[in-house]
Amino acid sequence: MIILMKKGCSQQDIDGIVRLLKEHGLGANLSTGSQATIIGVLGDKAKLGDVNLELMDGVEKCVPIMRSYKLASREMTPEGRTVTVNGVVFGGKRLAMIAGPCAVESEEQVMAAAQGVKAAGGRLLRGGAYKPRTSPYAFQGMEDEGYRILRRVADALDMGVVSEIVSHDQIDVACRYCDMLQIGARNMQNFRLLREVGRSQKPVLLKRGIASTIEEWLDAAEYIMSEGNYNVVLCERGIRTFETATRNTLDVSAVPVVRERSCLPVIIDPSHAAGKASYVTPLALAGIAAGADGLIVEVHPEPRVAMSDAAQQLTTASYQALVRQVSAVAAAVGREV
Ligand code: PEP
Ligand code: MN
Repeated sequence: MIILMKKGCSQQDIDGIVRLLKEHGLGANLSTGSQATIIGVLGDKAKLGDVNLELMDGVEKCVPIMRSYKLASREMTPEGRTVTVNGVVFGGKRLAMIAGPCAVESEEQVMAAAQGVKAAGGRLLRGGAYKPRTSPYAFQGMEDEGYRILRRVADALDMGVVSEIVSHDQIDVACRYCDMLQIGARNMQNFRLLREVGRSQKPVLLKRGIASTIEEWLDAAEYIMSEGNYNVVLCERGIRTFETATRNTLDVSAVPVVRERSCLPVIIDPSHAAGKASYVTPLALAGIAAGADGLIVEVHPEPRVAMSDAAQQLTTASYQALVRQVSAVAAAVGREV
């Protein structure tokens, strides 16, 4: 439930409501928009018993949130949330750009990719240390050593680290080395993992499941937020459809839908949607044109010899060209890179 305050209500009125909620074992999420203040009630509103909030000073009305997700809903925070990772803001005017190799293969490889990304203005470095692979015989990643390599390279270049976590028992080591934890498409409904990252305060990049609806994806975000971690960024990475020309089908429409229903920033992963390097830039442009808050793109110094996702990784030069094109589209929709 949200409490819509009257225009021009006093700070005392707001404090009074927050205090009352607290006395009943409930939390409050304050959202101060340009029009009016909204107080989101956190917890089971049945705890209020007979209290009629609409009779309190300064209250315009109480509105129930009808969706299963509350904290992640647009109603709860109409002005939208931002998430900051290493000085990069997701959900602001400027687009947030993450790039780097699919998998960490060696320190030299990560360094070469990161230098190319940084030359294009990038401040967030991605790289998979734990790789969830379809086949058990495929390269599974360098694991904790991969995290350490990412950290060393990122520190040397003053960048932040974004890397995937595949199991709840990895949380401590992942938090030590990463600035943002990625929950991959295959783990979007790994509820224990969601709860565990929710108990940390690390920013989370929550990818959409390969066959998940937008509502299921937002419910997954709610799992993280319900544990107290509101630093969640959504990532559309393509869904499984009957089409086989691309690896997945980028659901561009997810961007406006998420922006309408949720307060969370949303970015696009054109690489895993495309599956092919030549499709990556057009999909990235479409995502930004649709209103996405940023991109995560796979970049490898020598894609041909990549140990995973070779076909879809961009060279550093192609990535720099992508960023130039994205800048033009961003300007056309009132954003900047
Ligand atoms: C990745 O980003 O490396 C990855 C495995 O992505 P997804 O979970 O979207 O398949
Ligand atoms: Mn990949």
